[in-house]
Amino acid sequence: MKKKVSIVICCYNEAENIPTVVDAIHKNMETAGYNYEIIAVNDGSSDDSLTLLKKMAETDKRLFYVDLSRNFGHQNALKAGLDYATGDCIISMDADMQHPPEMLPLFLEKWEEGYDVVYTRRKQDKSLPLMKRKTSAWFYRFINSISDIELEEGTSDFRLLDRNAADIIIRMKGNDLFIRGLVKWIGFRQYAIDYMPHKRLCGESKYTVRKMFSLAAQGITSFSVKPLYVALYVGFFIAVLSLLCIPYAVISFISGYYMAGWASLIVTVGFLGGLQLFILGIIGLYIGKIFIRTKERPTYIVQETNLQK
Ligand code: UDP
Ligand code: MG
Repeated sequence: MKKKVSIVICCYNEAENIPTVVDAIHKNMETAGYNYEIIAVNDGSSDDSLTLLKKMAETDKRLFYVDLSRNFGHQNALKAGLDYATGDCIISMDADMQHPPEMLPLFLEKWEEGYDVVYTRRKQDKSLPLMKRKTSAWFYRFINSISDIELEEGTSDFRLLDRNAADIIIRMKGNDLFIRGLVKWIGFRQYAIDYMPHKRLCGESKYTVRKMFSLAAQGITSFSVKPLYVALYVGFFIAVLSLLCIPYAVISFISGYYMAGWASLIVTVGFLGGLQLFILGIIGLYIGKIFIRTKERPTYIVQETNLQK
């Protein structure tokens, strides 16, 4: 019997891109000699992505849709796709043609060689805005320095997971999904492919600066408690520093030399106040995670699908 491959694409207002992506996937999979399904997760799009998917699924028996009840974010949408996929391996890719579908046969080739995870590293695309390139590079550097996992720069959610590896991620509990990190963390035999991303076909990036920051915060806090050490070290450093100020104050008092201290005082108070709030914020992030976790709410809600689970 032929092996089955599931291809998951997450769509958030991608109506203009969906037909092209689905076509390109078919083109690359039809000759590959596998049974396959395409699962499009509609992440609460406000355009007509869903209507389009439904219409396409009427004639395309390999296309399935999972419609989420609202926008749950890319990571949660991807998790929904993984949960519904039934293939012997699962390939995830974006729905905007940035991830070249021509690479699918290569993924499968490596999978057949025995790799459990075939992931990709994006080469620097000179046509991307400088801001995006820089933030992406900083993101990985920052995550690596502050967390306990080693993420390679340019890894994205364009990868193949063998059923074994996928099942582990599917069973993983928690509301703060950062699938990229998890995939690295689970280990197994992993193979990396470097690729040059295409340009986004239509529309704009759905990752706003806000979403990117929240992804970064997720990435860091879901893998390590290192940020909490910041409080420890900085607090200790400042305490020592302020101890050194005592002899200085005593001597200047005895020698009758008074400083006009308003400015330095206000700066110190402001700085310490800000620092305390910052550190409280970090602690709060972790407490917030525990709080959310205790509620055990689902990470996504499915409104409608033509798949059976
Ligand atoms: N996406 C999603 N939910 C979101 C944001 C994005 O499902 O809340 C999807 C989007 O439709 C696309 C993929 O995630 O298929 C990657 O998003 P995008 O291309 O906007 O990110 P970029 O490639 O610019 O990092
Ligand atoms: Mg994209």
